[in-house]
Amino acid sequence: MEIDTTGTPGTAIAWFRRDLRLHDHPALTEAIRRGGRVVPLFVLDPALLDGPRASTVRRWILLRTLAALDADLRARGSGLVIRHGRPEEVVPALAAEIGAGTVLATRDVTPYARRRDRAVAAALAADGRSLHLRRGLLLVEPEDLPGGAGIGYAVFTPFWRASQGVDRRTLLDAPERIPPLPDGLRSDPLPDAGPPPVADLAEPGEAAARERLERWVGGGLARYGEERNGLAGAPTSRLGMDLHFGTLSPLSVESASLAESASGEYRRQLVWREFYHHLLWHRPALAREPFQPRFQGVFRPLEADPEAWWAWAEGRTGIPVVDAGMRQLSATGWMPNRARMIVASLLTRHLLLDWRLGEAHFQRLLVDGDLANNVGGWQWTAGVGTDAQPWFRIFNPVLQGERFDPAGAWVRRWVPELAGVPDRAIHQPWSLSAAEQRAAGVAIGGSYPAPIVDLAAGRERALAAFKAASEG
Ligand SMILES: Cc1cc2nc3c(=O)[nH]c(=O)nc-3n(C[C@H](O)[C@H](O)[C@H](O)COP(=O)(O)OP(=O)(O)OC[C@H]3O[C@@H](n4cnc5c(N)ncnc54)[C@H](O)[C@@H]3O)c2cc1C
Repeated sequence: MEIDTTGTPGTAIAWFRRDLRLHDHPALTEAIRRGGRVVPLFVLDPALLDGPRASTVRRWILLRTLAALDADLRARGSGLVIRHGRPEEVVPALAAEIGAGTVLATRDVTPYARRRDRAVAAALAADGRSLHLRRGLLLVEPEDLPGGAGIGYAVFTPFWRASQGVDRRTLLDAPERIPPLPDGLRSDPLPDAGPPPVADLAEPGEAAARERLERWVGGGLARYGEERNGLAGAPTSRLGMDLHFGTLSPLSVESASLAESASGEYRRQLVWREFYHHLLWHRPALAREPFQPRFQGVFRPLEADPEAWWAWAEGRTGIPVVDAGMRQLSATGWMPNRARMIVASLLTRHLLLDWRLGEAHFQRLLVDGDLANNVGGWQWTAGVGTDAQPWFRIFNPVLQGERFDPAGAWVRRWVPELAGVPDRAIHQPWSLSAAEQRAAGVAIGGSYPAPIVDLAAGRERALAAFKAASEG
């Protein structure tokens, strides 16, 4: 079939990346408002699907979300053009093919995204075309904040206050119609997503995301402030995946939750996401290096203790609350924030293993795996991050379990070997006598492991190592 190459200077590419929605999409809206042809594009970069940090579960979500986006675009008279390859080659080649002078996209903050966008912008410019980056990933852009052009905020509370003082842009509707694609324009096939790689995956795509948001605002949000730290069935929004892939914009989540009077704590958590994204924007090196480098030397590489690493990763540390979290992560690609802190603390404090090992493991498995938030959460818990969690504050997983899973319902769900253990010992089953273990149907060191680390001794070792590093 002949390809229509009569594109006018008015032809624009709306390049989707992790903004896979039609509502509240400034770059797409602008592309349409320009009045010429619009070609919605997604580039399937092999680095994205098969790179060293690629994730089976997020590959599945991405492919299904792209299929949903294509259907949504078709319903409005257009469609999604997929091209395989490296963006710095594919985008300029498509622009030349269809005669597009302009490429519009949503600005992203990760080091990869920034390198990519610089390369694409340079390649386009060499051909007299241009890349325009627009808002949409964040509530507030770095330049909106006082001092935003400098190194940014290193402490959350002032960041929170400053972000609350910034006027939000107007929420945009989804376009009703989008100009048709040029005749004969090729789209590469979307690889088959295959069966869901883990259990309980939420339906990908914008329509399902908007339903999730609506259910959340009308349901669990009212209890979020009091109950969000609970481990068993805590009301949290589970919108991390939608915020990562951009099936919801943060502004649409914030605006929808404003209607619920008890939403203050929830909106504050949304600003933690902002905080970590701004930090990464100002300090790209944080993706690999801690905010407080003086402590990095306390951590050991995997080779120093592979047995501990695998016991942690596979949920067989013998510490119930840790094993429950790690097994929930493997089975479903998600675990509650409180559990993330507890397991990360055990790895980086009691076991003194490098936070970057845990960060990469989470990044492979989480449905909401997100570089800025994940690095932020890991550095915070490991005691090498920004303001909070100073080096001498170390989570006790037994006390955490007793406080946030008091009846042990969550532990029993994910660690069925402990189903018969009485509530009083569910978070420290090693405290049961041999006779009590028999009565509970568990054998510590047999059907369930003995703890891989003595919690008191591990804590002391970590305190000593961090103290030495803080003085050194
Ligand atoms: C070690 C560790 C690793 C983490 N890794 C990730 C990650 O890869 N991706 C990720 O999105 N979050 C991460 N978090 C933050 C937090 O645990 C998750 O955002 C949250 O549990 C996701 O569930 P939810 O969508 O139901 O969140 P909700 O509690 O409903 O919160 C709504 C949204 O606010 C944002 N948010 C909430 N808490 C935080 C926080 N502490 N930091 C940054 N953003 C936050 C997220 O976008 C979240 O989806 C991590 C936390 C820790 C301690």
